[in-house]
Amino acid sequence: MGRYTGPVCKLCRREGQKLFLKGTKCYTEKCPIERRNYAPGQHGLAQARRRKASDYAQQLREKQKVKRIYGVSEQYFKTLFERAAKQPGVTGENLLVLLESRLDNVVHRLGFASSRKQARQLVQHRHMEVNGRTVDVASYQVKPGDEVRVRSGSRDLVPVQASLEAKTRPETVRWLTIDEGARAGRMLERPTRADIPLAVQEQLIVELYSK
Ligand code: SF4
Repeated sequence: MGRYTGPVCKLCRREGQKLFLKGTKCYTEKCPIERRNYAPGQHGLAQARRRKASDYAQQLREKQKVKRIYGVSEQYFKTLFERAAKQPGVTGENLLVLLESRLDNVVHRLGFASSRKQARQLVQHRHMEVNGRTVDVASYQVKPGDEVRVRSGSRDLVPVQASLEAKTRPETVRWLTIDEGARAGRMLERPTRADIPLAVQEQLIVELYSK
């Protein structure tokens, strides 16, 4: 199945928490999840009242949540999981680090885009450079030492400026250095799990794929 292109607030409601998929609007507009914190659809409210979800349902929801946060397809997510499983260390953490090292995520973390979706557009529309070369592949894996920069002709783009002014970036991103004026940043080292501010239980995803 391809990437979801419908209303994103429904995804937050389905996962029962704010996933911040609309960028600055998530901070400035009324968030639907605050009014209707149950899954969308005819049976959403009834489901919320039912007894505790099964182990499988919890594992599935955790996988869907991470997939939706990073806006990636099912097939890509599975491929990345297999790559994470081959790496030394804890598979769930490896998976999150691989997702966090994607170019679109790094652009978002640097504050040049208020959401990963917007960051992906900046990358795909050739507004971003890595080490001085234009990269238009959102899934590109940024490595320690790489410099990510907004191209000189794009540095005053409205979304970039608006995102920097809105300050939706987490206050401390230990693994990245940022020079807002130069519209550039550098990955100092790969993030660790402690650097990734996501309330997810990645171990449940590992259990799901281990069945
Ligand atoms: Fe999610 Fe943002 Fe919509 Fe709230 S406003 S439900 S956080 S996408």
